[in-house]
Amino acid sequence: MKLNTTFFMKCMNPQRRVTLCVWALVCCIGLQTTSAQSVVEKYGRLQVNGSYVTAENGDKISLAGNSLFWSNAGDVSDFYNALTVNHLADDWKSAFVRIAIGVKETWDNGTGYIDSPTAQTAKVRTVIDAAIAKGIYVIIDWHTHAAELYKPQAVSFFTEMAELYGDNDHIIYEIFNEPINQPWSDIKSYAADVIAGIRSKDPDNLIIVGTPEFDQQVGLAAASPITGDPNLAYTMHFYADSHGQFLRDRTLQAMNDGIALFVTEFGTTHFSGNGGYNPTESQIWLDFLNENHISYVNWNVSDKDEDSSIVNPNRGAQGLLNGELTASGQFMRNHMRARFQVLSVDDFVINGEKIKIVPNPVQDILSVISKFSIDAINIYDLTGRVVLSKEVATINPALDIQSLSAGNYMLQLTADGKSAVTKITKF
Ligand code: MG
Repeated sequence: MKLNTTFFMKCMNPQRRVTLCVWALVCCIGLQTTSAQSVVEKYGRLQVNGSYVTAENGDKISLAGNSLFWSNAGDVSDFYNALTVNHLADDWKSAFVRIAIGVKETWDNGTGYIDSPTAQTAKVRTVIDAAIAKGIYVIIDWHTHAAELYKPQAVSFFTEMAELYGDNDHIIYEIFNEPINQPWSDIKSYAADVIAGIRSKDPDNLIIVGTPEFDQQVGLAAASPITGDPNLAYTMHFYADSHGQFLRDRTLQAMNDGIALFVTEFGTTHFSGNGGYNPTESQIWLDFLNENHISYVNWNVSDKDEDSSIVNPNRGAQGLLNGELTASGQFMRNHMRARFQVLSVDDFVINGEKIKIVPNPVQDILSVISKFSIDAINIYDLTGRVVLSKEVATINPALDIQSLSAGNYMLQLTADGKSAVTKITKF
């Protein structure tokens, strides 16, 4: 939730008006709570700006989400429903749901898109519609290692999706999951035709193109990028137990060379998806992605009996709702919920400089991150009563709020004769 602090900066300078303004702010929050911003409303249509996939307004971002399992995988793919999408958005704070649309595999008994296009289209549209209704992004992923074999169908499918959904900022097209040994020139040739189909219906939503060797040879794309499209990024995939610093180095080099990257799939495990669950290496990767403003999507939402699944075996979508999670699932849920709290902190402003309050929600020590000296911190309860007040006269002051009861408060900072107010939550 964003607060318009301009009014309060003006009116809160004379201390006698503080109570009135806190009341006004309480009313403002009350109104906004009923129409809380969705993820897509907050960030808009994602947009490539130089080496970054940014918010529509150009702000650098690193958002996190979840990938469904192969849509042609039988029982373990029964997470293609609104229950799952809503739970991932509400409970996991997921910004993306990725649809891994199965194309054609030797093991799928004809259930992939090539053999069963009507059934697969209905399946993926259920998830797309749920994501749009929920206000999160949906990545439509052509989930095959051999997309070039099915180029006409890919063109047809993506053109249809672009016509149906291209006016929605929620939609992201991932046109080739993971090439393996195909030369980059072949991938570019495939991509050109699929992109042309999408752009005939949708001029502007983000398109993501796979890179050779399971999306790890990002340098080949950086050396010879696809030109002429207004909103095109490339894929990088990693599995934390198998791929380490060498791939982070390669990623940064490709960004330095000018292409924007998106981790549409990663695992906390060995690259097979099974074995090697590695929270230590996973955390190194997640920190790297956040520091470098790269968005990322965890593989995978299923109850298949393997370590990269987030739900315990054979528990189904109800198991997800019940919190019956694997070790990897618990790790990712904790990570995504914690980072959401940080991202939810409202920036507020004095003299045009942003100030942050961390952490928020806060249990004991609240820190103010500012580039200039703060004179005082005042905390008000929701009736406008001062419950804590401290003269600080320092950059980046801290305040112990352990004495406060759990609940919501207004925090007011004053500096250089100006004031600003934001909401904090004590737990
Ligand atoms: Mg569009």
